[in-house]
Formats: sequence, structure tokens, C-alpha cells
Amino acid sequence: MRVCSEERDARLHAMLVMVINETQRQLGDIKRNLRATSGERRAVGDVTDDIIREVDLTAVTAQSDALASRLAAATEALRRLESGDGTYGFCDDCGGTISEMRLSILPFATRCIGCQENVEQRAPLSRRQTGARYTA
Ligand SMILES: [Zn+2]
Repeated sequence: MRVCSEERDARLHAMLVMVINETQRQLGDIKRNLRATSGERRAVGDVTDDIIREVDLTAVTAQSDALASRLAAATEALRRLESGDGTYGFCDDCGGTISEMRLSILPFATRCIGCQENVEQRAPLSRRQTGARYTA
């Protein structure tokens, strides 16, 4: 282990905990909103309202899916970092080091920038358009 890596790990650890807390909070907000909306759902029988709600629901579902996968990725990254098994910070695909700059922006990145770009180029357009595109 390099001398500076402890400091780096502590910083990334704090970031991951922050991401996890924030993501859990956002997911909680969505669930609370959904419950509030479904409660008033039958109160107004307007078809347009129903359609708008349906569209909203699709967007909300996509958003909560994205949050859930971010939460899973951050939790897994934190587990790796805490376990000290030496897999954190290394690319799942090529085994190379994920740059510190990339990790400082995306602490739960599992691929180096090169491999991530390869994956995104192979991914169908529809997948690339949905959700956030993390290339740091
Ligand atoms: Zn790689």
C-alpha cells in the first residue's frame, strides 16, 4: 500500500457513505411521493390526469431504478473498500487502475475510463440515452 493511499481511501470512503445516504434519502422521497399520489389517485376521475400520472409514474420508476442501481453500486464499492481485498479502484474488465480523478468524481466506478467507453459504444442507443452517463 502506498503511503498516500490511506488518506485517499478515507476520502473515498467518506464520499461513498455520502452517496449512499443521499441516494437512500432520494429513494425515500420518491416512495413517499408515490404513496401520497396514489392516495389521491381516485379522487379525480379526469382521464388527462390519469395519463399525466401514468407518464409521471414511468419517469419516476426510471428514476428510482437509476437510484437503486447507484445505491447497489455504491454499497458494493464501499464493501470492497472496507474489505481491503484489493479489488477497489481496479477495473472489473481489464484489471487496470481506475484513475484517482475518475474515482473522485465517481467513487463507485467499476471500470476504467477506456473500458467504460467501450461498453457505452457497444450498448444499444436506448440504453445509452437512459439515465446518467458516467464518464469521468
Ligand atoms: Zn479497464
